[in-house]
Amino acid sequence: MKHYDVIIVGAGPAGLRCAEVLGKSGKSILILEKKSVIGPKVCAGGLTRKALELMDIPENLLEYKISNSIIRAPGNTHYGTLPDPVIYMIDRHQFGQWQASKLNKSNIEIRIHSKLSKIQENKIIINGQEECSYTYLVGADGANSFVRKHLKLPVKKKLVTLQYKIPVTGSDRFELILNSGFFNSGYAWIFPHKSFLSVGCAVDPKYFPAQKLKIGFHKWLEQNNFNIAQAKYESFPVNYDYQGYAFGNIFLAGEAAGLASGLTGEGIYQALVSGEEIAKLIIDKNYVSKPMIEILNYNKIQLRILQVFYFAGPFRNSLYNLIIKLFQSKFVNEKIINGFS
Ligand SMILES: Cc1cc2nc3c(=O)[nH]c(=O)nc-3n(C[C@H](O)[C@H](O)[C@H](O)COP(=O)(O)OP(=O)(O)OC[C@H]3O[C@@H](n4cnc5c(N)ncnc54)[C@H](O)[C@@H]3O)c2cc1C
Repeated sequence: MKHYDVIIVGAGPAGLRCAEVLGKSGKSILILEKKSVIGPKVCAGGLTRKALELMDIPENLLEYKISNSIIRAPGNTHYGTLPDPVIYMIDRHQFGQWQASKLNKSNIEIRIHSKLSKIQENKIIINGQEECSYTYLVGADGANSFVRKHLKLPVKKKLVTLQYKIPVTGSDRFELILNSGFFNSGYAWIFPHKSFLSVGCAVDPKYFPAQKLKIGFHKWLEQNNFNIAQAKYESFPVNYDYQGYAFGNIFLAGEAAGLASGLTGEGIYQALVSGEEIAKLIIDKNYVSKPMIEILNYNKIQLRILQVFYFAGPFRNSLYNLIIKLFQSKFVNEKIINGFS
Protein backbone atom coordinates (compact mmCIF):
# COMPACT_ATOMS: atom_id res chain seq x y z
CA MET A 1 0.00 0.00 0.00
CA LYS A 2 1.42 3.39 -1.00
CA HIS A 3 1.66 6.04 1.73
CA TYR A 4 1.28 9.82 1.23
CA ASP A 5 1.85 12.58 3.76
CA VAL A 6 -1.34 14.25 2.54
CA ILE A 7 -4.20 12.95 0.43
CA ILE A 8 -6.44 15.70 -0.96
CA VAL A 9 -9.85 14.65 -2.22
CA GLY A 10 -11.12 16.94 -4.99
CA ALA A 11 -9.24 19.04 -7.55
CA GLY A 12 -11.40 22.16 -7.30
CA PRO A 13 -10.09 25.59 -6.22
CA ALA A 14 -9.74 24.45 -2.57
CA GLY A 15 -7.91 21.19 -3.26
CA LEU A 16 -5.56 22.67 -5.88
CA ARG A 17 -4.69 25.68 -3.73
CA CYS A 18 -4.04 23.41 -0.76
CA ALA A 19 -1.70 21.25 -2.90
CA GLU A 20 0.11 24.29 -4.31
CA VAL A 21 0.96 25.64 -0.85
CA LEU A 22 1.74 22.20 0.62
CA GLY A 23 3.89 21.30 -2.37
CA LYS A 24 6.53 23.82 -1.34
CA SER A 25 7.06 21.93 1.96
CA GLY A 26 8.30 18.85 0.12
CA LYS A 27 5.54 16.60 1.53
CA SER A 28 4.29 13.76 -0.64
CA ILE A 29 0.80 14.62 -1.88
CA LEU A 30 -1.89 12.76 -3.77
CA ILE A 31 -4.86 14.64 -5.28
CA LEU A 32 -7.85 12.55 -6.26
CA GLU A 33 -10.36 13.85 -8.80
CA LYS A 34 -13.33 11.72 -9.77
CA LYS A 35 -14.00 13.57 -13.04
CA SER A 36 -12.07 13.02 -16.26
CA VAL A 37 -11.05 16.69 -16.56
CA ILE A 38 -9.76 19.14 -13.98
CA GLY A 39 -11.69 22.40 -13.72
CA PRO A 40 -15.25 22.26 -15.08
CA LYS A 41 -17.91 22.85 -12.40
CA VAL A 42 -21.47 24.19 -12.40
CA CYS A 43 -20.69 27.81 -11.55
CA ALA A 44 -21.37 31.37 -12.72
CA GLY A 45 -17.60 32.03 -12.67
CA GLY A 46 -17.54 35.38 -10.84
CA LEU A 47 -14.44 36.17 -8.80
CA THR A 48 -14.49 39.04 -6.34
CA ARG A 49 -11.55 41.45 -6.03
CA LYS A 50 -10.24 39.67 -2.91
CA ALA A 51 -9.46 36.55 -4.93
CA LEU A 52 -7.23 38.55 -7.26
CA GLU A 53 -5.41 39.98 -4.28
CA LEU A 54 -4.82 36.43 -3.02
CA MET A 55 -3.48 34.95 -6.25
CA ASP A 56 -1.61 36.33 -9.20
CA ILE A 57 -4.21 35.29 -11.78
CA PRO A 58 -2.97 35.85 -15.34
CA GLU A 59 -4.78 38.54 -17.36
CA ASN A 60 -5.71 36.10 -20.12
CA LEU A 61 -7.86 34.12 -17.65
CA LEU A 62 -10.03 37.15 -16.88
CA GLU A 63 -12.80 37.02 -19.47
CA TYR A 64 -14.48 40.23 -18.31
CA LYS A 65 -13.59 42.81 -15.68
CA ILE A 66 -16.85 44.15 -14.32
CA SER A 67 -17.11 47.80 -13.37
CA ASN A 68 -20.56 48.47 -14.88
CA SER A 69 -23.40 46.70 -13.13
CA ILE A 70 -27.17 46.75 -13.01
CA ILE A 71 -29.12 45.83 -9.88
CA ARG A 72 -32.86 45.42 -10.34
CA ALA A 73 -35.74 45.35 -7.87
CA PRO A 74 -39.39 45.29 -9.02
CA GLY A 75 -39.90 49.07 -8.94
CA ASN A 76 -36.37 50.37 -9.21
CA THR A 77 -33.10 49.83 -11.07
CA HIS A 78 -29.58 50.87 -10.13
CA TYR A 79 -27.04 51.47 -12.92
CA GLY A 80 -23.61 51.47 -11.34
CA THR A 81 -20.30 52.52 -12.86
CA LEU A 82 -17.19 52.20 -10.78
CA PRO A 83 -13.69 53.49 -11.50
CA ASP A 84 -12.16 50.02 -10.92
CA PRO A 85 -13.46 46.52 -11.57
CA VAL A 86 -14.93 44.68 -8.58
CA ILE A 87 -15.85 41.35 -10.16
CA TYR A 88 -13.86 39.31 -12.66
CA MET A 89 -15.32 36.60 -14.85
CA ILE A 90 -13.39 33.37 -15.29
CA ASP A 91 -13.94 30.11 -17.11
CA ARG A 92 -13.81 27.32 -14.51
CA HIS A 93 -12.14 24.85 -16.88
CA GLN A 94 -9.33 27.28 -17.69
CA PHE A 95 -9.00 28.33 -14.05
CA GLY A 96 -8.67 24.72 -12.88
CA GLN A 97 -6.12 23.93 -15.60
CA TRP A 98 -4.07 26.97 -14.60
CA GLN A 99 -4.14 26.03 -10.91
CA ALA A 100 -3.08 22.46 -11.79
CA SER A 101 -0.26 23.71 -14.03
CA LYS A 102 1.33 25.53 -11.08
CA LEU A 103 1.77 22.39 -8.98
CA ASN A 104 5.17 21.02 -8.14
CA LYS A 105 5.15 17.72 -10.08
CA SER A 106 8.05 16.17 -8.18
CA ASN A 107 6.09 15.56 -4.98
CA ILE A 108 2.46 16.01 -6.10
CA GLU A 109 0.54 13.33 -7.96
CA ILE A 110 -2.84 14.22 -9.49
CA ARG A 111 -5.10 11.40 -10.53
CA ILE A 112 -8.27 11.89 -12.55
CA HIS A 113 -11.01 9.22 -12.85
CA SER A 114 -10.19 8.56 -9.20
CA LYS A 115 -13.11 8.55 -6.83
CA LEU A 116 -12.70 8.27 -3.08
CA SER A 117 -15.03 5.42 -2.19
CA LYS A 118 -14.16 4.54 1.42
CA ILE A 119 -12.34 6.03 4.39
CA GLN A 120 -10.85 3.80 7.05
CA GLU A 121 -8.39 4.39 9.92
CA ASN A 122 -5.62 6.41 8.20
CA LYS A 123 -6.26 4.85 4.81
CA ILE A 124 -8.67 5.30 1.92
CA ILE A 125 -9.98 3.21 -0.93
CA ILE A 126 -10.00 4.63 -4.46
CA ASN A 127 -12.53 3.48 -7.06
CA GLY A 128 -13.53 0.61 -4.76
CA GLN A 129 -10.20 -1.22 -5.11
CA GLU A 130 -6.90 0.57 -4.53
CA GLU A 131 -5.80 1.32 -0.95
CA CYS A 132 -3.55 4.24 0.03
CA SER A 133 -2.61 5.40 3.51
CA TYR A 134 -2.23 8.99 4.69
CA THR A 135 -0.91 11.06 7.56
CA TYR A 136 -3.42 13.85 6.75
CA LEU A 137 -6.61 13.72 4.71
CA VAL A 138 -8.12 16.89 3.19
CA GLY A 139 -11.73 16.76 2.03
CA ALA A 140 -11.92 19.38 -0.72
CA ASP A 141 -14.66 17.45 -2.46
CA GLY A 142 -17.32 20.12 -2.75
CA ALA A 143 -20.97 20.52 -1.74
CA ASN A 144 -21.74 16.77 -1.62
CA SER A 145 -18.51 15.92 0.21
CA PHE A 146 -17.84 12.24 0.93
CA VAL A 147 -15.25 13.17 3.57
CA ARG A 148 -17.80 15.37 5.36
CA LYS A 149 -20.30 12.48 5.37
CA HIS A 150 -17.59 10.26 6.88
CA LEU A 151 -17.23 12.86 9.66
CA LYS A 152 -21.02 12.59 10.20
CA LEU A 153 -21.64 16.28 9.60
CA PRO A 154 -24.99 16.66 7.82
CA VAL A 155 -25.60 19.63 5.48
CA LYS A 156 -28.59 21.52 6.84
CA LYS A 157 -28.01 24.86 5.12
CA LYS A 158 -27.70 24.81 1.36
CA LEU A 159 -28.80 26.74 -1.70
CA VAL A 160 -30.59 25.27 -4.66
CA THR A 161 -29.26 26.84 -7.85
CA LEU A 162 -30.53 26.77 -11.43
CA GLN A 163 -28.46 28.05 -14.32
CA TYR A 164 -28.73 28.40 -18.07
CA LYS A 165 -25.62 28.92 -20.16
CA ILE A 166 -27.07 30.88 -23.06
CA PRO A 167 -24.81 31.03 -26.13
CA VAL A 168 -24.02 34.73 -26.66
CA THR A 169 -20.75 36.35 -27.74
CA GLY A 170 -19.48 39.85 -27.02
CA SER A 171 -21.92 40.77 -24.24
CA ASP A 172 -20.57 42.21 -20.98
CA ARG A 173 -24.02 42.29 -19.36
CA PHE A 174 -23.74 41.95 -15.56
CA GLU A 175 -26.96 42.10 -13.56
CA LEU A 176 -28.30 41.10 -10.16
CA ILE A 177 -32.04 40.73 -9.77
CA LEU A 178 -33.88 40.96 -6.46
CA ASN A 179 -37.53 40.04 -6.89
CA SER A 180 -39.46 38.34 -4.12
CA GLY A 181 -42.28 37.18 -6.42
CA PHE A 182 -39.90 35.05 -8.52
CA PHE A 183 -37.01 34.30 -6.19
CA ASN A 184 -38.30 34.93 -2.64
CA SER A 185 -35.28 35.74 -0.42
CA GLY A 186 -32.90 34.44 -3.12
CA TYR A 187 -31.83 36.28 -6.25
CA ALA A 188 -31.01 35.88 -9.92
CA TRP A 189 -27.91 36.84 -11.84
CA ILE A 190 -26.69 37.50 -15.36
CA PHE A 191 -22.91 37.03 -15.65
CA PRO A 192 -21.05 37.46 -18.97
CA HIS A 193 -18.55 34.98 -20.43
CA LYS A 194 -16.74 34.92 -23.77
CA SER A 195 -19.15 32.49 -25.41
CA PHE A 196 -22.21 32.53 -23.17
CA LEU A 197 -24.22 34.37 -20.55
CA SER A 198 -24.69 32.59 -17.25
CA VAL A 199 -28.28 33.31 -16.25
CA GLY A 200 -29.19 31.69 -12.97
CA CYS A 201 -30.85 31.94 -9.60
CA ALA A 202 -30.38 30.60 -6.08
CA VAL A 203 -32.36 30.24 -2.89
CA ASP A 204 -32.35 28.12 0.27
CA PRO A 205 -35.13 25.53 -0.23
CA LYS A 206 -35.95 25.83 3.48
CA TYR A 207 -37.21 29.33 2.70
CA PHE A 208 -38.66 28.72 -0.79
CA PRO A 209 -39.21 25.24 -2.29
CA ALA A 210 -37.01 24.32 -5.28
CA GLN A 211 -40.08 23.62 -7.44
CA LYS A 212 -41.43 27.14 -6.82
CA LEU A 213 -38.01 28.59 -7.67
CA LYS A 214 -37.98 26.64 -10.93
CA ILE A 215 -41.44 27.94 -11.89
CA GLY A 216 -40.55 31.51 -10.87
CA PHE A 217 -37.24 31.39 -12.75
CA HIS A 218 -38.85 30.19 -15.98
CA LYS A 219 -41.60 32.83 -15.77
CA TRP A 220 -38.97 35.50 -15.24
CA LEU A 221 -36.87 34.20 -18.17
CA GLU A 222 -39.95 34.34 -20.41
CA GLN A 223 -40.95 37.85 -19.27
CA ASN A 224 -37.43 39.04 -19.99
CA ASN A 225 -37.30 37.43 -23.44
CA PHE A 226 -34.39 35.06 -22.82
CA ASN A 227 -34.06 32.49 -25.58
CA ILE A 228 -33.12 29.26 -23.82
CA ALA A 229 -33.69 26.93 -26.80
CA GLN A 230 -29.92 26.36 -27.33
CA ALA A 231 -28.91 26.89 -23.70
CA LYS A 232 -27.37 24.32 -21.38
CA TYR A 233 -29.41 23.84 -18.19
CA GLU A 234 -27.53 23.03 -14.99
CA SER A 235 -28.25 22.71 -11.30
CA PHE A 236 -25.98 22.06 -8.32
CA PRO A 237 -26.23 22.70 -4.56
CA VAL A 238 -24.18 25.24 -2.63
CA ASN A 239 -23.26 24.21 0.92
CA TYR A 240 -23.15 27.03 3.45
CA ASP A 241 -23.45 24.93 6.62
CA TYR A 242 -20.09 25.56 8.28
CA GLN A 243 -19.35 23.33 11.29
CA GLY A 244 -15.57 23.47 11.49
CA TYR A 245 -12.62 22.60 9.29
CA ALA A 246 -10.13 20.69 11.48
CA PHE A 247 -11.03 17.26 12.84
CA GLY A 248 -7.82 15.61 14.10
CA ASN A 249 -5.83 14.58 11.02
CA ILE A 250 -8.83 15.15 8.72
CA PHE A 251 -9.60 18.62 7.32
CA LEU A 252 -12.48 20.05 5.29
CA ALA A 253 -11.82 22.85 2.79
CA GLY A 254 -14.07 25.03 0.63
CA GLU A 255 -17.61 23.89 0.15
CA ALA A 256 -16.99 20.56 1.83
CA ALA A 257 -16.67 22.66 4.99
CA GLY A 258 -19.75 24.73 4.09
CA LEU A 259 -17.69 27.84 3.53
CA ALA A 260 -19.76 29.40 0.71
CA SER A 261 -21.92 32.47 1.30
CA GLY A 262 -25.57 31.66 2.03
CA LEU A 263 -26.57 35.02 0.59
CA THR A 264 -24.78 35.12 -2.77
CA GLY A 265 -23.49 31.55 -3.25
CA GLU A 266 -19.95 32.94 -3.63
CA GLY A 267 -17.53 30.15 -2.74
CA ILE A 268 -14.41 30.26 -4.93
CA TYR A 269 -12.61 32.80 -2.76
CA GLN A 270 -13.48 30.95 0.45
CA ALA A 271 -12.33 27.69 -1.17
CA LEU A 272 -8.95 29.22 -2.14
CA VAL A 273 -8.38 30.74 1.30
CA SER A 274 -9.36 27.61 3.24
CA GLY A 275 -7.22 25.39 0.98
CA GLU A 276 -4.22 27.62 1.60
CA GLU A 277 -4.81 27.94 5.34
CA ILE A 278 -5.25 24.19 5.86
CA ALA A 279 -1.95 23.64 4.05
CA LYS A 280 -0.25 26.07 6.41
CA LEU A 281 -1.79 24.30 9.41
CA ILE A 282 -0.53 20.93 8.18
CA ILE A 283 2.97 22.36 7.73
CA ASP A 284 2.95 24.06 11.16
CA LYS A 285 0.61 22.64 13.84
CA ASN A 286 0.87 25.88 15.86
CA TYR A 287 -0.20 28.11 12.95
CA VAL A 288 -3.09 30.43 13.84
CA SER A 289 -5.11 31.40 10.79
CA LYS A 290 -6.38 35.00 10.69
CA PRO A 291 -7.71 34.67 7.10
CA MET A 292 -10.01 31.82 8.21
CA ILE A 293 -11.46 34.04 10.93
CA GLU A 294 -11.96 36.77 8.33
CA ILE A 295 -13.86 34.54 5.90
CA LEU A 296 -16.00 33.15 8.73
CA ASN A 297 -16.89 36.73 9.72
CA TYR A 298 -17.56 37.64 6.08
CA ASN A 299 -19.94 34.67 5.72
CA LYS A 300 -21.63 35.51 9.05
CA ILE A 301 -22.43 39.06 7.92
CA GLN A 302 -23.90 37.71 4.68
CA LEU A 303 -26.00 35.21 6.68
CA ARG A 304 -27.44 38.04 8.75
CA ILE A 305 -28.42 39.92 5.58
CA LEU A 306 -30.04 36.73 4.26
CA GLN A 307 -32.05 36.41 7.46
CA VAL A 308 -33.24 40.02 7.17
CA PHE A 309 -34.34 39.28 3.57
CA TYR A 310 -36.15 36.16 4.72
CA PHE A 311 -37.94 37.70 7.69
CA ALA A 312 -38.96 40.76 5.64
CA GLY A 313 -41.69 38.46 4.21
CA PRO A 314 -44.38 40.54 2.45
CA PHE A 315 -42.19 43.68 2.83
CA ARG A 316 -39.26 42.09 0.99
CA ASN A 317 -39.75 43.91 -2.31
CA SER A 318 -40.04 47.23 -0.44
CA LEU A 319 -36.76 46.39 1.29
CA TYR A 320 -35.14 45.59 -2.08
CA ASN A 321 -36.34 48.94 -3.45
CA LEU A 322 -34.95 50.70 -0.41
CA ILE A 323 -31.56 49.04 -1.00
CA ILE A 324 -31.58 50.23 -4.63
CA LYS A 325 -32.34 53.78 -3.40
CA LEU A 326 -29.47 53.57 -0.91
CA PHE A 327 -27.13 52.73 -3.80
CA GLN A 328 -27.67 56.31 -4.99
CA SER A 329 -25.63 57.53 -2.05
CA LYS A 330 -21.94 57.40 -3.01
CA PHE A 331 -20.98 56.61 0.59
CA VAL A 332 -23.40 53.68 0.96
CA ASN A 333 -22.57 52.46 -2.54
CA GLU A 334 -18.86 52.31 -1.75
CA LYS A 335 -19.51 50.62 1.62
CA ILE A 336 -21.67 47.90 0.03
CA ILE A 337 -19.34 47.32 -2.92
CA ASN A 338 -16.25 47.17 -0.70
CA GLY A 339 -18.04 44.87 1.74
CA PHE A 340 -18.95 42.39 -1.00
CA SER A 341 -15.91 42.50 -3.24
C1 LIG B 1 -24.81 27.63 -10.15
C2 LIG B 1 -23.65 28.05 -9.29
C3 LIG B 1 -23.05 29.29 -9.50
C4 LIG B 1 -21.95 29.68 -8.72
N1 LIG B 1 -21.36 30.86 -8.99
C5 LIG B 1 -20.29 31.27 -8.26
C6 LIG B 1 -19.62 32.50 -8.56
O1 LIG B 1 -19.97 33.22 -9.51
N2 LIG B 1 -18.57 32.86 -7.79
C7 LIG B 1 -18.14 32.09 -6.74
O2 LIG B 1 -17.19 32.49 -6.05
N3 LIG B 1 -18.74 30.91 -6.46
C8 LIG B 1 -19.79 30.48 -7.20
N4 LIG B 1 -20.37 29.27 -6.93
C9 LIG B 1 -19.80 28.43 -5.85
C10 LIG B 1 -18.51 27.76 -6.32
O3 LIG B 1 -18.74 27.07 -7.53
C11 LIG B 1 -18.01 26.79 -5.26
O4 LIG B 1 -18.14 27.37 -3.99
C12 LIG B 1 -16.55 26.41 -5.46
O5 LIG B 1 -16.37 25.72 -6.66
C13 LIG B 1 -16.10 25.53 -4.28
O6 LIG B 1 -14.81 25.05 -4.52
P1 LIG B 1 -14.32 23.68 -3.87
O7 LIG B 1 -12.92 23.50 -4.31
O8 LIG B 1 -14.63 23.71 -2.42
O9 LIG B 1 -15.28 22.56 -4.50
P2 LIG B 1 -15.55 22.16 -6.02
O10 LIG B 1 -15.22 23.26 -6.93
O11 LIG B 1 -16.94 21.64 -6.03
O12 LIG B 1 -14.53 20.99 -6.28
C14 LIG B 1 -14.70 19.74 -5.67
C15 LIG B 1 -14.06 18.68 -6.55
O13 LIG B 1 -14.09 17.44 -5.86
C16 LIG B 1 -14.40 16.40 -6.79
N5 LIG B 1 -14.97 15.29 -6.02
C17 LIG B 1 -16.15 15.24 -5.38
N6 LIG B 1 -16.32 14.06 -4.76
C18 LIG B 1 -15.19 13.34 -5.02
C19 LIG B 1 -14.79 12.01 -4.65
N7 LIG B 1 -15.54 11.21 -3.88
N8 LIG B 1 -13.58 11.57 -5.09
C20 LIG B 1 -12.80 12.38 -5.87
N9 LIG B 1 -13.15 13.62 -6.24
C21 LIG B 1 -14.33 14.10 -5.82
C22 LIG B 1 -15.39 17.07 -7.73
O14 LIG B 1 -15.47 16.37 -8.96
C23 LIG B 1 -14.81 18.47 -7.86
O15 LIG B 1 -13.92 18.59 -8.94
C24 LIG B 1 -21.47 28.83 -7.69
C25 LIG B 1 -22.07 27.59 -7.46
C26 LIG B 1 -23.15 27.19 -8.25
C27 LIG B 1 -23.76 25.84 -8.02
